[in-house]
Amino acid sequence: MANEDVQCPYCEKWQEICHDDGFGYAEDEAHEIQCFDCEKYFVFHTGISFYYEGSKADCLNGGEHAWKKSFIAPDYWPDARHCSDCEKRERGKMLDKEGQKKVDEALHKRVMAKTKLC
Ligand SMILES: [Zn+2]
Ligand SMILES: [Zn+2]
Repeated sequence: MANEDVQCPYCEKWQEICHDDGFGYAEDEAHEIQCFDCEKYFVFHTGISFYYEGSKADCLNGGEHAWKKSFIAPDYWPDARHCSDCEKRERGKMLDKEGQKKVDEALHKRVMAKTKLC
């Protein structure tokens, strides 16, 4: 079945997706797969229509993660980040009580400034 396959983004060979244990059916999740031809790892996303799109994930092949800053509210985790390829998430260190107070105060100030404008 053609739509059960995903194309390897590295060598462009078609790979069959094994659905044992329901693997690969969850939507909005990056699924890790290894190419049988070039043996590189890549990820694919499952769309609603069971359409698979392969995307390069260099971090799974010994490369760097494509870190993007994550925003967690309240902003107690200034180092929070996620990899846009494999969707690995890291929260990093949480601010200590002092840092949290500063975040809270800054937020409070912003809210007060808005109120004044009105
Ligand atoms: Zn390949
Ligand atoms: Zn990654």
